[in-house]
Amino acid sequence: MCGIVACVGYREVTPVLLNGLKRLEYRGYDSAGIAVRTADGTIAIRKSEGKLSKLVNQLNGSAPRGTLGMGHTRWATHGAPNDVNAHPHTDESGRVVVIHNGIIENYAELRLELKARGHVFQSQTDTEIFAHLVEEEFEKRGGEGAVNLLDAVRASLKRVRGAYSFVVMDARVPDLLIGARHFSPLIVGIGEGENLLASDIPALLEHTRRALVIEDGEVVALTSDVVRIYTLDGGSVEREPFEVTWDVTLAEKGGFATFFTKEIYEQPAALANALRGRVEPQRVALPELAGIDFDRVDRVHIVACGTSYHAGLAGKLALERWARVPVNVEVASEYRYASPVVNERTLMVLITQSGETADTLACFRLARERGAQTLALTNVVGSSITRGADAVIYLNVGPEIGVVATKTYTAQVALLELVALDWAIRRETVGEIKHELLQSFVRLPDLVQAIIGSDHQTEQLAKQVNRYRSAFFFGRGFGYVAALEGALKLKEVSYLHAEAYAAGELKHGPIAMLDPEIPVIAIATQSATLDKVVSNMQEVRARRAPVIAVATDGDTFIAEHADDVIYIPYAPEHLTPILAVVPLQLLSYHVAALRGCDIDQPRNLAKSVTVE
Ligand code: GLU
Repeated sequence: MCGIVACVGYREVTPVLLNGLKRLEYRGYDSAGIAVRTADGTIAIRKSEGKLSKLVNQLNGSAPRGTLGMGHTRWATHGAPNDVNAHPHTDESGRVVVIHNGIIENYAELRLELKARGHVFQSQTDTEIFAHLVEEEFEKRGGEGAVNLLDAVRASLKRVRGAYSFVVMDARVPDLLIGARHFSPLIVGIGEGENLLASDIPALLEHTRRALVIEDGEVVALTSDVVRIYTLDGGSVEREPFEVTWDVTLAEKGGFATFFTKEIYEQPAALANALRGRVEPQRVALPELAGIDFDRVDRVHIVACGTSYHAGLAGKLALERWARVPVNVEVASEYRYASPVVNERTLMVLITQSGETADTLACFRLARERGAQTLALTNVVGSSITRGADAVIYLNVGPEIGVVATKTYTAQVALLELVALDWAIRRETVGEIKHELLQSFVRLPDLVQAIIGSDHQTEQLAKQVNRYRSAFFFGRGFGYVAALEGALKLKEVSYLHAEAYAAGELKHGPIAMLDPEIPVIAIATQSATLDKVVSNMQEVRARRAPVIAVATDGDTFIAEHADDVIYIPYAPEHLTPILAVVPLQLLSYHVAALRGCDIDQPRNLAKSVTVE
């Protein structure tokens, strides 16, 4: 989950590392560190617990100088987030330096083994063992030369199990960076007289737009003018670089207080981009789906985590309603260890914003082993989930930097529903209503724009919600999806406890919690079950809990059943998981702002969850 940047070239490397890390800070941010090979042939390491800014302040005036270096922002898995456990890590001689993203699962046994051979450890991390392993292997090969160092890294990689991307350098080999990847992202940036490694593209864009994706099981060696990729066994791999076409300014705040707000406000444009060229008057145009044999599918498993899971729930409702195919929606971390019935007649739809979510990738591998077809939905071009999938649909919404998902969620819902509609049109399970459905997606960006334009509604309400210690959300059908996602946003950015229930479930338990101190946010937009939702609101009010309804413009009747109402434009039901969520994103933002929370980097969260 961490951020990795490394550079070998001709210029002072510390600013390159710090600027790169700044662009990746959303990936992990409990500590930060850099290592630079200095002119006297030693390695200078500076690291600090806390945010990157703390390290930057510490370096002020005393930044190490050199042209070979690496930097890391950590999201701790093994060992507390403190100075010692921050990366980079070295062996006891301080010559081999490593940074790592992921988890070494067999680290405990390797540590014991290395200790028995006299190695002394400084940190509690799993990562440190790798520096010691490489040092041993390099020494065995004489402790000098680029080829020997590369061999030593390869031999060490064969000893570790788990998920990783590593970057390694050695004080004795002045012009060499080695990277390796197994289930955690690693990208090469090809510059002029310099080459870079990073865990994500934004860190490279200041220097180059030419990039190469390193694949699982590969090792890459970079000098200032050559990049060579190898397999673990030493075979060489040929790969053409690609050109990054999007702009780095998309990864900047552009006048907004936070990336979270910027990305909420960007949703009309993001949805327009996601839908561009994909909705035609008579049909859905998703040529990406050509790789799927729909006639072979008799069930769909949608697999995802967190917010993407909520998008999956909306996808299920649309697929079952329109295309009449049976769908299960599964949390990836459960599914992978259950005994799911998956075979060649299953279509597995994998949703992951980053394309690197460890649990979702594990399910992806399972699908492929069992011969199931796979459809991946992701925002990140070239990410792991895209490799080997039968079909890939990119969200096309530009980079999402705020840790908490906003525009990627709304685009996921829209695109999954388009897949459902496409399938339904092929199967002829929707009649004339297809025109209305297609049209609804054309109008979607404008509808979202209208909601964003009336943000003052939620700003006022936030003052009220902020007074409470807990909140409930409920809805039915598509409205239930909105309730789940709304509650998650509030938890993530404001730390206010929130729970979502299917409205009919409230009286099966949670209603016992209700009192005047717990507000209930009801998704009460126009739908076939609106009357039922209104009855559930009455049940809540009878327990004197305040009700805030999200309702459809012009529904004057609803105000009789709620203490407050957030109005959104009229739209067909299937758009509720998008339209009702936008004001709830805004509400979460305002509550979090009142509470002084760190909105773009909420405590304990990371953007790309590359560990289990
Ligand atoms: N497992 C390593 C640690 O805890 C790396 C974590 C990360 O990916 O940031 O230090």
